Formats: sequence, C-alpha cells, structure tokens
Amino acid sequence: MKAYLNGQFLPLSEARISPLDRGFLYSDGVYEFIPVYSRCPFRIDEHLRRLQDSLDGIRLANPLSDTEWKRIILRLIAETEFADQTVYIQVTRGADVKRDPCFPPGVTPTVFLFSAPLVGPSAALREQGVAAITAPDLRWARCDIKTIALLPNVLTRQLSADSGAAETIMLRDGYLTEGTSTNVFVVRDGVILTPPQDRHILPGITCDVVLELAEKHKAPYEVRPVSEDELRNADEVWLTSSTKEVLAVVTLDGRPVGHGENAGKPGPVTKRMHAWFCTFREDVMRRCDA
Ligand code: PMP
Repeated sequence: MKAYLNGQFLPLSEARISPLDRGFLYSDGVYEFIPVYSRCPFRIDEHLRRLQDSLDGIRLANPLSDTEWKRIILRLIAETEFADQTVYIQVTRGADVKRDPCFPPGVTPTVFLFSAPLVGPSAALREQGVAAITAPDLRWARCDIKTIALLPNVLTRQLSADSGAAETIMLRDGYLTEGTSTNVFVVRDGVILTPPQDRHILPGITCDVVLELAEKHKAPYEVRPVSEDELRNADEVWLTSSTKEVLAVVTLDGRPVGHGENAGKPGPVTKRMHAWFCTFREDVMRRCDA
C-alpha cells in the first residue's frame, strides 16, 4: 500500500515516525477518511472543510492549502492499484524533543496519508441488515472534532464486536448521539429523524448527503434530539458512514427493530434511501470521469 509522510511518497511499510510524535504521546491530532470510487474521491471539498474545522478545533494551523491537499490525495489515488479506495489523512502537532503537554513552538506538524482498498458491507449484509447494540456514550464534550483520540470509540465498538453485532449505538443522558463510527437515523411514522450536528456528534459527510436526498425527494425528515425511547420503538433504524453508506439496523440489543411484517427486516424508507444514495454516488462518479 502507498503512503505519504511529511513530503514523501513511499510504501506504507517504510513509513516511520518519532516516538515523541504528539499523536503517539497525547493523541494530539486529527484525521479524515475519504471514500474513493473508481479513483474519484467522494465529496473531497467537504472532507477538506471538515479537516479544517477539526484543525481549528485543536488550534493547529493547517500545514497545507486545499490545492496541496488535493495534489497529494490525487497522486496517492493514482499510484494505488485498486480503483475503489479509502484515503486516510492524519495531521498531528508533530514531534518535539521532549514530552511536554503545552503546544511546542516551531515544531512542524506530521502529515500522514495512506490509501487502502474500500471494503463496504457484503451484499448479504446490505440485503439483510445488521445487528447493533446500545451503550452509554463515554466520549468527551467535543465529539464534533475528528480527533485521533479514539479510545472511547474503540472500547465501545468492541462491546458490539464481542456480541457479534456490527455497531454500538451510543446514548447520552437519555438521547441518541451516534454510532462509534457512524451517524444514526431513525424512522417513526414515516418521518426520518436524526440528531442535530452539535458538539455531541461528528458531522458526517454521508449524513449530510442523506439529508440532502431526503430534501430533494421530499421525504419527511426532522433534525432534532431523538430520545432513547424513540430509538427503541422505531419503525426503522439505519447507519450512515463513508464505508457503510446507508445500512439497515434490524436488531437492537437483540430485539427486532420495527413492527408487523417489517420487524427485523430492512424497512421501506431505508431501502429507498439506500437506492437514492447509490444513484447519487453513481451520478457523482460519472461527472468525475467527464
Ligand atoms: N460518527 C463518527 C464517530 C465517525 O467516526 C464517523 C466516520 N468518520 C461518522 C460518524 C460518519 O462520518 P462520514 O459519513 O463522514 O464517514
């Protein structure tokens, strides 16, 4: 796999950083993750804007201009053998000569990117939907920053892995926040609900696409706090992320999601949204080729 580290393109296996890197010592950094379809990066401007917001959130000056970011990303995509990829970007506050929490003056940020094959859910999982569990949201008060400090996400995701589920959906003070690496949508009485993009959740790029599609197709939706009770009694639940796209949740804590004949199966609103998403993505790729 191909990587970029501090100005150099190189095989991922040859990339090296200092153990004094503040990403390693303090998780003092942010990241981005861009899906690439047929060598076309999806919503690159939005991902670069979110990267800028994350850098602003940790008071780290962006080491590159958008033009420089795009040049690096496009070269990495071109030099990677698979057409469908995920480009991972990480920026840390760099490596000082000592361990001190205060921002080190004059230290150059570490810029690291690599591309890997895009692996989404299998066709069978898309068709059948996935299991999810719930757990308390253990994270800090700035979940809108895409920080590399992911230990709460790791520990919370492992709970679902341990029980054979695909995601852990987090609850804070009786309200839905998000999945450990996904945003969550709930359908009740035909209305699509998702929590507002405040400091308790990451502003998902896929989430924005889904809301735009709901608007475009005149599907009723509300962006507002979603209570635990609304989640547990939902007609449908789905997850969104760059790799999962729109993925139905069919059991929650072992109980089927939904009611009547749709209980425990991907519901009609979820299926329609996934179809709209696929058409949208294909359109974007066609324009990218042109
Ligand atoms: N929430 C969290 C906590 C995430 O890590 C992710 C994945 N980056 C998402 C939501 C979904 O974001 P996106 O649609 O941009 O992949």
